[in-house]
Amino acid sequence: MPTPATTSSPAAMTLGGLHHITAIAGDPKRNLDFYTRVLGLRFVKKSVNQDDPGTYHLYYGDHLGSPGTALTFFPWIGIRRGRPGTGQAYTTGFSLPADSLAFWQERLAKLNVATGPVETRFADRVLSLADPDGLKLDLVFTAEADARAPAPSADVPAAHGIRGFHSSTLALPAPAATLTLLTEVMGYRLVATSGSRTRYAVAGGGPGTYVDILSDSNLPHGLSGAGTIHHIAFRVADDAAHVAALELLRRRGYQVSPVIDRAYFKSIYYREPNGVLFEIATDQPGFTFDEPAETLGTKLSLPPRLEPHRAEIEAALPSLT
Ligand code: ZN
Repeated sequence: MPTPATTSSPAAMTLGGLHHITAIAGDPKRNLDFYTRVLGLRFVKKSVNQDDPGTYHLYYGDHLGSPGTALTFFPWIGIRRGRPGTGQAYTTGFSLPADSLAFWQERLAKLNVATGPVETRFADRVLSLADPDGLKLDLVFTAEADARAPAPSADVPAAHGIRGFHSSTLALPAPAATLTLLTEVMGYRLVATSGSRTRYAVAGGGPGTYVDILSDSNLPHGLSGAGTIHHIAFRVADDAAHVAALELLRRRGYQVSPVIDRAYFKSIYYREPNGVLFEIATDQPGFTFDEPAETLGTKLSLPPRLEPHRAEIEAALPSLT
């Protein structure tokens, strides 16, 4: 039975950190090349946008695309570029070993990928870059414990590989209401502040759990388009925690979608008060739901309702090779 909302919320969600992050891209082939060859992630799922099956949905991550590692894209050929700015998940941080900075500086220079100056952020060093569509990425070289194994890669040795997400940085014009959501409803806690950046963590904390709030009045208002984040998803362990999260959000007055079965996970969606689209997704069943681990990403995966239209869908999608 629902309980009345209270300001001290002992029953915050039980989130495990970031689940996946979904962004908008232009050319899918260029997108695939950048994330697999340049960054060394594994292409774990070739699917279609379930709301627009004429468009791919491409997923990159660790060997299995485990929760906390999967960066996914809707590539729309010819879409105009967006503008990263406020009201968006502004940058996506990847977790790397503290001593891998020199490897990546050399590698990215050799591949003609421009990077910003090395920044010291809290105890970490951060190398900023943009993907071919202008999506802002931070390589976070951190000494914090991170036991996640990078995807096997022919291009990037395991000792220097991306271990998954480090953080998502939200650029917010008016953070207060979002902070209420994060701390009172979603179970996040403040861990550190530096300048205009404030870091929040959930569960055990550490890389893969962080949400950074950036309050920088010099940033422009963000515009959606290629090179911007579409939504960020947080993880829950099971269906019970998922339903509990849905009910808690509704009790607190947030407009939340019903539970949607995305085959690889179940999802609910809601907009945080500054307009960033949030999702909560279940850890199970994962990307081996419809193909074995060894061959993930090699065939076009379609949800059952689109399977009867496979031939038309495949014919309309652009080649990735
Ligand atoms: Zn999603």
